[in-house]
Parts: sequence; structure tokens; C-alpha cells
Amino acid sequence: MNAISPSPEAEAGGAIVNGLSVDVEDWFQVGAFESVIERDDWNSLSDRVDRNVREILDLFDEAQVKATFFALGWVAKRHGGLMREIVVRGHELASHGWDHSRVFRMERKGFAEDIARARKVLEDAAGVPILGYRAPSFSIDRRTPWAFKELAEQGFTYSSSVAPIRHDHYGWEEASRFAFRPLPWSELIEIPVTTAMFAGKRLAAGGGGFFRVIPYSFTRWAIRQVNSRDERPAVFYFHPWEIDPGQPRLAGAPLKSRLRHYTNLDKMGGKLRQLVHEFAWGRMDLLAHREAARLDGEAAA
Ligand SMILES: [Zn+2]
Repeated sequence: MNAISPSPEAEAGGAIVNGLSVDVEDWFQVGAFESVIERDDWNSLSDRVDRNVREILDLFDEAQVKATFFALGWVAKRHGGLMREIVVRGHELASHGWDHSRVFRMERKGFAEDIARARKVLEDAAGVPILGYRAPSFSIDRRTPWAFKELAEQGFTYSSSVAPIRHDHYGWEEASRFAFRPLPWSELIEIPVTTAMFAGKRLAAGGGGFFRVIPYSFTRWAIRQVNSRDERPAVFYFHPWEIDPGQPRLAGAPLKSRLRHYTNLDKMGGKLRQLVHEFAWGRMDLLAHREAARLDGEAAA
């Protein structure tokens, strides 16, 4: 495995290249709203994902960064042209499952069908192999020991589906903070979303609501800490609806969900611009290659 050479982006400068990712789902598909919006209603709701992703593609072009877009199969089925556009513009297209069902709420058989169905639609739409997977709401944890086996058996090469932290909706706090191989018989790599250490505790620092709500300086501190002290790449994620102040407002959702969802939507574009310019970023598949080479090096040492 030492034959894997560093990617051109890793060689370009001295800085650690972090993983940049977008979870492609629409505003009505977020876990926080599942108590007020039925999946059956999704087709009748105002569709914002296409325009939002195109805005993100322009922002990435402007900053000259490439990223990974983990898209729902449900979205890919309705926006095949958008999936092709993501690939044509040099980004990686990967899977976020079919319809945002959380892994820990499924049995292995249902999970197998979910990821196979999503992958087929994504591959048919974009004409490229889909090798990466991110579980909805980072829902691979200690309750789903079969999930990595299923991903490996279906030929996925990496996953970025674990939040190694305790959170009210998800989390697997005993998991490694950095890339690991979850199966002894497979090359499959899991690359957890970024956490930063503060006073002996793990803090979520990889994006989502935290990035929007908390001042930018926290994320800057966290990524610097991970890159300089841990000497590891960070993994950051956000959603297309987070840059969209014009999305419909859901009055019926729980207050906590509304606060989390709607705060600072108008400031997100500016924050993202700052983030993509301040640090070095790249696609998750290339990050997975570099992490595989590092793990192989450690095993050989
Ligand atoms: Zn998601």
C-alpha cells in the first residue's frame, strides 16, 4: 500500500489539506423537522436544493477549492443534471443514503437496500462510481456494528459517518477522533467528523449548526488545533439550506429545532468564504487515500 503517492494537492503547499463536504439534502429533509414533516409530503414542498448547490459550486470555484458532495438518492433522482454538474466541476459525488433514514433506526437488510438504491441512482445520474458514504446525522455508532460490514461488502472504500462525541441526536463518544479501519478484513476507512479537545473534553467542531451559530473564531481555533497540535486533517460539513435565508419557515417545528435551523442563515455565506480561504481544503476521497497511506505506514512501522 506504500505505492499510494501523495495527491497533487497535498504536495502543493506545506499546509495540511482538510476534507470539505456538503451534505446534499433539502430544507425539509433535516432530522430536526421529521416530527412535523412526513416523507409523503416532500414532493409537494418548495424545492430549493438545486439553486443552493449551484451557489455553493460558484463559491467553491471562486475560492478554487474542490470538495465532496454527499447527496441523498432521493435528491439525485429529481436532480440528475445537478449531480452531473457537481462532477463536471471537479468535485467528488458520494452517497448520503436514500431518504435520510438514520442508520441506527434500520436493520441491516433495510440499510443494505437503502445504500444500494441510493448508489444506483447517483451512479446513473452522474456516470461515475460512488465510493464514499456519509450516514444521515452521523448515525453509525455502537448500535450498528453491521453497518461497516455492509458498506465494505458493497464496495464502498470510505465512510465519514461517525461523530466521536456525545450529542443530543447522535454520537459515538468512544470512537477514534481520526481515521481508522473498522474491519480487520477490509480496507474500508472511517473518517470521523472533526472534534477539538478542550479541558479534556471533545467538542463538536466539524460544522453543522455549531458553525452557523457560534462565532467563526471558534472554528478557526478548532481547525488550527487539529492541524497544528494533533497534526491531523479536519473534516468539515455543511448543508445547502444553511446558505439560504429565503427558505420557507416552519412555524410548527419545536422551538429548539427552529432556533438551530434558522439562526444566522444570512451570515453563512460570508463565514464559509472566510473558512475556505483561510485553510487548505480538498475532496474526501483524496483525504481517504492519504489517511490509508498513513495507516499502512503505521502498521508497517
Ligand atoms: Zn444529512
